[in-house]
Amino acid sequence: MTLPLRPDLVGLEPYGAPQLDVPHLLNVNENPYSPPDVVIKEIGEAVHAAGGALNRYPDRDFAALRADLAAYLERESHVTGLEVANIWAANGSNEVMLHLHQAFGGPGRTSLGFAPTYSMYPEYARDTLTDWHAAPRAADFSIDPEVAVAEIERVRPAVVLVASPNNPTGTAVPIDVVERLAEATRESGPDGASSVLVIDEAYAEFRREGTASALTLLARYPHLAVSRTMSKAFAFAGTRLGYLAAAPELVDALRVVRLPYHLSAVTQAVARAALAHADLLQEQVAQIRADRDACLSWLRERGFTAVDSDANFVLFGLFEDRHAIWQGLLDRGVLIRETGPEQYLRVSIGTPEEMTAFRNALTEVTGQ
Ligand code: PMP
Repeated sequence: MTLPLRPDLVGLEPYGAPQLDVPHLLNVNENPYSPPDVVIKEIGEAVHAAGGALNRYPDRDFAALRADLAAYLERESHVTGLEVANIWAANGSNEVMLHLHQAFGGPGRTSLGFAPTYSMYPEYARDTLTDWHAAPRAADFSIDPEVAVAEIERVRPAVVLVASPNNPTGTAVPIDVVERLAEATRESGPDGASSVLVIDEAYAEFRREGTASALTLLARYPHLAVSRTMSKAFAFAGTRLGYLAAAPELVDALRVVRLPYHLSAVTQAVARAALAHADLLQEQVAQIRADRDACLSWLRERGFTAVDSDANFVLFGLFEDRHAIWQGLLDRGVLIRETGPEQYLRVSIGTPEEMTAFRNALTEVTGQ
């Protein structure tokens, strides 16, 4: 007997970094701090309150959660005018971006990104029978607007995916370049429609001073979607809550393709409890940003190449045999990620103690 697996899926492995039981997990850009006690307590209360209504389906349109997310984004990025109708959410921003491909991709259409970038992007395309096109980044991993615009005009993608800050490089896209892309995508999609321009700001809260969010451009571009997640800055990867802000027409298209009741009542309640303490969680973000900058300086002082980062991780190298370095660190209890361009490795920013363990292990392994 053979299963009628889609031919394009034959032989493929599921995506995912190794989940190993080692002392220092610095491989999937998690926040190393568990949520503060007050948040844990209120999560418990919120789940208890939701428990009494679990015989009912949850609010399909999760209006209260969307209102909280809108208010948070307005505060965080100094923008105004975000309403419930501008917000969408799903089980992680992975699912948000899958919804975008379900609504705007599909057979005969193309999704375009700038490599090296987040390795799930081609998978959203594959899973929605959308073609994937990887346009190049410059040698310093920035996006050259001339190259980008030329590629967009040539490929005429339905979706353009731009991670800013980018994973795995940490590179943020300057706001004037985002604006160029927003202009270039006004009519670059199928049949003279726009391309949907997705700025994936999963790591936005870690950006350096002076780096503006694409949210500041939202009011001017109805084909722009800004994706965020609670997985990183909110120390909430286990909850699975990602979201986006866009024009109401764009959000309405996503409502068509989502499964009914895709956000559980428990997820909605838990996310709202954490959002009520967003300011408290920002203290951890400040610590991680400072530790990121310190890690970068240390790497450079030791003679490594390290890429400027606006995220909670650093891409560094250059190693002839990066696998050997990765393995050497793992043997010392430090799990980092073998990803991105050849000769580079990526380390997520952990607690100060974890960063000491990382530095010691790297010194031992490389002698540098
Ligand atoms: N975008 C980028 C750039 C990421 O690195 C990640 C997670 N590593 C995601 C989106 C997805 O995160 P989540 O589904 O947890 O929101």
